Amino acid sequence: MPPIVRKKILVKGVVQGVGFRPHVYKLAAEYSLAGWVKNDASGVTIEAEGPGPAVEAFIKAVSARRPAAARVDSVVSRAVVPAGDKEFVITKSGGKVPASAIIPADLALCADCRGELLDKGDRRYLYPFTNCTNCGPRFTIVKSVPYDRPYTTMAGFKMCPDCLREYGDPLNRRFHAQPNACPVCGPSVKLESGGKTCAGPAALEKTAELLLAGKIGALQSLGGFHLACRADRPAAIKRLRAAKRRPHKPFAVMVPSLAAAKKLCFVSAAEAAALVSPEAPVVMLGRRSKNMGEPAPGLSRLGVMLPYTPLHAALFALLAKKGFSGPLVMTSGNFRDEPICKDGPDVRARLRGVAAFSLSHDRPIHNRCDDSVVYEAAGELRLARRARGYAPSAVKLPAGGASVLACGADLKNTFCLTRGAEAFLSQHIGDLSEPLNQGFFKETLANYRRLLKISPSLTAHDLHPDYASSAIARALPGKKLAVQHHAAHALSVAAEYGLRKPFLGVAFDGTGYGTDGRIWGSEFLVFKGRRWSRAGHLEYFPLPGGDIGALEIWRPALALVKAAYGPGWRGQAAGLFKAVPAAKLHTVERMIDSGVNSPQTCSMGRLFDAFSFIAGIRAEATYEAQGPMELESLLSGRRAAPYAFALRGGEGDLRVDPSPAVRAAARDRLAGKAPAYISARFHAGIIAAAAAAASSIAKSAGLDTVCLSGGVFQNRALLEGLTGALAAGGFKVYSNRQVPANDGGLSLGQAWYALEGYRQA
Ligand SMILES: [Zn+2]
Ligand SMILES: [Zn+2]
Ligand SMILES: [Zn+2]
Repeated sequence: MPPIVRKKILVKGVVQGVGFRPHVYKLAAEYSLAGWVKNDASGVTIEAEGPGPAVEAFIKAVSARRPAAARVDSVVSRAVVPAGDKEFVITKSGGKVPASAIIPADLALCADCRGELLDKGDRRYLYPFTNCTNCGPRFTIVKSVPYDRPYTTMAGFKMCPDCLREYGDPLNRRFHAQPNACPVCGPSVKLESGGKTCAGPAALEKTAELLLAGKIGALQSLGGFHLACRADRPAAIKRLRAAKRRPHKPFAVMVPSLAAAKKLCFVSAAEAAALVSPEAPVVMLGRRSKNMGEPAPGLSRLGVMLPYTPLHAALFALLAKKGFSGPLVMTSGNFRDEPICKDGPDVRARLRGVAAFSLSHDRPIHNRCDDSVVYEAAGELRLARRARGYAPSAVKLPAGGASVLACGADLKNTFCLTRGAEAFLSQHIGDLSEPLNQGFFKETLANYRRLLKISPSLTAHDLHPDYASSAIARALPGKKLAVQHHAAHALSVAAEYGLRKPFLGVAFDGTGYGTDGRIWGSEFLVFKGRRWSRAGHLEYFPLPGGDIGALEIWRPALALVKAAYGPGWRGQAAGLFKAVPAAKLHTVERMIDSGVNSPQTCSMGRLFDAFSFIAGIRAEATYEAQGPMELESLLSGRRAAPYAFALRGGEGDLRVDPSPAVRAAARDRLAGKAPAYISARFHAGIIAAAAAAASSIAKSAGLDTVCLSGGVFQNRALLEGLTGALAAGGFKVYSNRQVPANDGGLSLGQAWYALEGYRQA
């Protein structure tokens, strides 16, 4: 018999509120060990006593066989004096609120709970609020720490004896599951339709009927309301588009199962894993249908998610009984650019006239949280929108420092609070030019500061003086730091990968305020020894009308065509602008010539817009990047002769001149070449030009590492093409994964800029 030993084991990571203590309890039983386990200040602490080899095997198993929703960052153990314990117990958490406790993110319905939900004999049959330590609401219901029921929006529900028994049994899946509930004691749904209301199972049944009949409904989910309707009813989608004032913007769909997703779209192994993950994001998938119609008109990709709450799963079960297994459109319950609705009065006030009915419930949403969006590119899953399932979990930084707050930018806003080497990004907040979103920002910041107990010593914000995010930052007490937009983009990649050596940042996006007061957006930035400098960009061109050029995309096209052909452009390229009213064309041309309301820009986003116009895709967009997304959707993967871009200037001031490419594309278009052909040549051309510029700058600066960021890199062809070209040239290439490449990841870069003490060279 080996000697008896006792070890104290500290486990750090996402280990609270995810069933970790029952997991440890069961393992201790398996290895016949005595001792105890408890939650404490930094995670979970265990003392385990028994024969040496059994204790060692137990320690290995603690992290190797962790619960699905847990994340183990470290397991540290040391020998202590055996205490002669005879049994293993779960002890109560320590009294003081831990400063480093992690609030878990919301977790999608687990397989066990789904099984019970669909089991007629189970007491939770079709009960839309079932959950356990492996699944259910977390962040969205937390009001304060520690994460215990009285500090959640479940505080008002008193557990019935059956639920209480589960809650108190260490071997039960619902042991200390804070939102534990059942039909006897828990929340319930309420349907409001045509002035009538009903509740409970009848409400779910009726909801399924209404959806089946093609009605649009507002459905309360985990972090807010969805607007839902059948995805196979063009008339319903048309009404939804009219009401949301979104004529073309892609809508995500929910399908009942992975098999149903595969029927609709091509699904890779990584995409399948994301669909069924506890985060359950919207996954952008390649559509099987060549006909790129509703619900994502003109796009080869469709946003797909699986039912992630028991309410969704129950609804799909009822729909299946009625013979419907098709996708439902599930789009955020809001008007364009406003925050997602979170309660019944909100829905009645804001969604009246859109939704024919609403299915709400009485478990309040404390932290609203939109669906997250992921996509696969260059062999990796990447976040396009980081919200439900991911927030508020931290991004690990390579080093810490005093806490900072970074306020992000105005589009796709998120903020970032740091604590030691952890960066907590807020969930996606949205467009801050919308006043309701400014309120959402402030409310969320207050929640984060309270939950995480962070008082930042410095506030970083975008360099743009007129941004709402900058104004919010200026109004806060303490030190401020203005960070150039594209430097922050590039540093968001460095922060993610823990890069602290010199690198070249390539930031391609729509708009960012430059240090010369112009609108930047195609930046090649050299980072060396905590200094950054601009080494290259697209040639500047005028943007007549400013921001309106992101929607009236013929405007940047006109500026580029005029620059490419000179004053005689009409003789060779007037035919491109037939769809634009002559008077308007004339006015805008005069604006360009006189410089009135025509700021200079080197925006890569506007260049993509312009080429989608020249290719014949459209003259006007109804949502940001519509033209470029449709242009990319035409790519077939076949090789094409790249349009030529010229490189001008020299070291420290390299400029990519698109004029030769503009002329070639115009010629192709006027010769009747197909948009797909022009798209292929354009993508090949810009990849080659960016690769040539990046390698030339990196070589002369002695850099071997390149970080790619900015919203334009959500273009899969560009990211993969440029990554491949640079890797083939011997460079190490990094791009965003954990945070969006778009402005949703900007706050991380700003925070890292502040923590590392970067400045412009
Ligand atoms: Zn569960
Ligand atoms: Zn109960
Ligand atoms: Zn940006």
